[in-house]
Amino acid sequence: MTRIDQPETSTTRKRTVLISGASIAGPALAFWLNRYGYAVTVVEKSGAVRSGGYPIDVRGTALEVVRRMGILTELRDAHIDLRRLTFLHGDGSEVASVHPHSVTGGVEGQDLEVRRGDLTNALYTAVRDNVEFLFDDSIDTLDQSGHGVDVTFRGGGRRTFDMVFGADGMHSRTREMLFGPEEQFHRYLGYCFAVFTMRNTFGLSHETVMWNTPGRAAALYAVGDDDEVHAFLNFARPEPPVEAFRDPAAQRDLVTEVFADAGWEVPGMLAALRDADDLFFDGVSQIRMPRWSEGRVALVGDAAYAPSFLTGQGTSLALVGAYMLAGSLADRGHIAGFAAYEEGTRDFVAVNQGLVGEGGAKLFPTTARALELRNDRLRNLRAIPPAEGRPAHSALALPTFAPTP
Ligand SMILES: Cc1cc2nc3c(=O)[nH]c(=O)nc-3n(C[C@H](O)[C@H](O)[C@H](O)COP(=O)(O)OP(=O)(O)OC[C@H]3O[C@@H](n4cnc5c(N)ncnc54)[C@H](O)[C@@H]3O)c2cc1C
Repeated sequence: MTRIDQPETSTTRKRTVLISGASIAGPALAFWLNRYGYAVTVVEKSGAVRSGGYPIDVRGTALEVVRRMGILTELRDAHIDLRRLTFLHGDGSEVASVHPHSVTGGVEGQDLEVRRGDLTNALYTAVRDNVEFLFDDSIDTLDQSGHGVDVTFRGGGRRTFDMVFGADGMHSRTREMLFGPEEQFHRYLGYCFAVFTMRNTFGLSHETVMWNTPGRAAALYAVGDDDEVHAFLNFARPEPPVEAFRDPAAQRDLVTEVFADAGWEVPGMLAALRDADDLFFDGVSQIRMPRWSEGRVALVGDAAYAPSFLTGQGTSLALVGAYMLAGSLADRGHIAGFAAYEEGTRDFVAVNQGLVGEGGAKLFPTTARALELRNDRLRNLRAIPPAEGRPAHSALALPTFAPTP
């Protein structure tokens, strides 16, 4: 039978889509697909939109996406005004104290840094009245042998959609169902990290303090004057600790072992790690795939092209990718639409994933010599970078897609 790759007109039924994952990419994609006339369902394995995690950056092209979504002002109000970044030696003495932008390449008055939960909440609020959300559930099977995608849910439901999207993060199950095991696409960058919140007993305010020894970093990030700080523990590990990825107890044990002899505030951080109920642990990795779709199913955000936190661009890629994917489907069927999505987005992804080679990892040196060199560079940092910031963030001029039907 000939497959027809055309959007149905407004006289026919609404096209139905299912999105797996309600974090950043999922709700952003839901917003734009709803705008283009799709009936959207989002399934999320958690009981609600998950709000935890380290603050995130929205930069360059992604700022234009949130502006077009009408949430830029709200996010500007939530902007974290981080004023100081202090680096410490292993003994706790100071290496240098600098303005954060001089390290991140951020641009004053343009880039946004917000609590991850403020962004997920703004995205969810922007779509929840127009989109069906299924929490506490997930896709069990996908079958594309019929005219659409037949989906069974873990919760027992069974439905058919015109298209399905995996916005289910770096360890995407949608990707695994379509393309097979993650190892084929996973590019491990040699580090693991844990983030969690703990009490701000340090008197920190609007600042980050980072302690380093070769191959290890511990940071406390005080977003405001709150009584909580974000704790961050990052360490080099040549091979990914695969067995720990699905086991929070093993993650705690591993981090505790790696930092066992560390000084400064690290012992208190390890004690807090034991009780933290919002631990986020992962390898520092990228996902690189030769293509992002198969039949009527496509991937977006970390599921397709996680760039790693070393680039600071994971959230921005998720937002831009969601915009480009939905826009590519605004007036086309899935075959032409998915091709246009890749064509319009792949270069932007590549240049941003390439940022890891440009210095992200230099923040976390693994040898004493490299750490000394980094510290020298930090001591000599003076100027805030030029106003254009890092061009990779703005490497895509956002197209305008078909108007709202
Ligand atoms: C709670 C949380 C905290 C985070 N904290 C950090 C952090 O501190 N530092 C950092 O670098 N990155 C963190 N991230 C990842 C970061 O949000 C992403 O790198 C980036 O924003 C891209 O977003 P995404 O929507 O593509 O993927 P993600 O933000 O990873 O979202 C994936 C979503 O899919 C859901 N999901 C996963 N599997 C299934 C399934 N089988 N069925 C249904 N739903 C599923 C997840 O619960 C999640 O809501 C965190 C992610 C989460 C979910």
